[in-house]
Amino acid sequence: MHEIVVLSGKGGTGKTSIAASLAMIASNDIVVADCDVDAANLHLLLAPDFAVTHNFWGSMVAEVDDDVCNLCGECEKICRFEAISLNEKMVRINEIRCEGCGYCEKVCKERAINLKKRICGKVYESTIKSGASMVHACLEPGGENSGKLVAMVKNEARQLLNNQNKDYLLVDGAPGIGCPVVSSLSGASLVLLVTEPALTALSDLKRLYQLLETLSTPAVCIINKCDIDTLCVENIKKFLMEKHIPLLAEIPYDNVFTHAMVNGKTMSEFDEKFKILCVNLWEGLKKRINKKKDI
Ligand code: SF4
Ligand code: SF4
Repeated sequence: MHEIVVLSGKGGTGKTSIAASLAMIASNDIVVADCDVDAANLHLLLAPDFAVTHNFWGSMVAEVDDDVCNLCGECEKICRFEAISLNEKMVRINEIRCEGCGYCEKVCKERAINLKKRICGKVYESTIKSGASMVHACLEPGGENSGKLVAMVKNEARQLLNNQNKDYLLVDGAPGIGCPVVSSLSGASLVLLVTEPALTALSDLKRLYQLLETLSTPAVCIINKCDIDTLCVENIKKFLMEKHIPLLAEIPYDNVFTHAMVNGKTMSEFDEKFKILCVNLWEGLKKRINKKKDI
């Protein structure tokens, strides 16, 4: 089993378009995991059927039993997070503000407060339009523990991969270098970095590479919109050479990206030349992984 994680230091580089196109091309070999749980959108292009749903349980939240509460106001006074408000009729808990510390439960003499687990998101197991399986998730607004949710998505995807006897887990990761990205990198065989010629993209690519270096995760790169700033492309290539990161493809700017997205299609379905590019890219990724294995 091999895990290929598609990442970009910043949003807007075309990462998800490329991950979705690879998902269509490599359908027979893969299970897909959408680990961009804070802003999941791979499902918009891959049309999953949301066949199975599981709850994602996060941290604790306080709950008041109105039948027992005598409205003494002690809990409101001690909550440091200002999650409790009281009027003449009832106590209200603001679930977004509540940190689940349990202090209010301790001070309530009436034992009217209990902590309960809260649902912070949903995890779905689906079949996408190509017939491959996909595990994806949705974090509730204000939901926490996105790293833990990513781990849940990956674990379910790995189980499907084993059951279906397939070789590759294709992971669409989150932008940035935060907790969900670190979680999506656990067990990664190879990272596909998607960047574009912009100062911010190069700066974020460098930060992401620092993270990969720390985790000793090998990477390859593609430059999207490679014809919009020649000087910046040269700087990206210089950085890739310094760090021995192979450049697998350079993709010129093309309105077809937008047209495909507007029509709810992946680039590999929409445009023949992009389909060929993705077939070559997928073969290149597999070759890298198997070469690494043979060393
Ligand atoms: S401390 Fe208990 S009894 Fe007093 S207002 Fe809060 S929930 Fe009600
Ligand atoms: S559990 Fe903690 S944060 Fe939540 S309402 Fe009670 S005191 Fe406030």
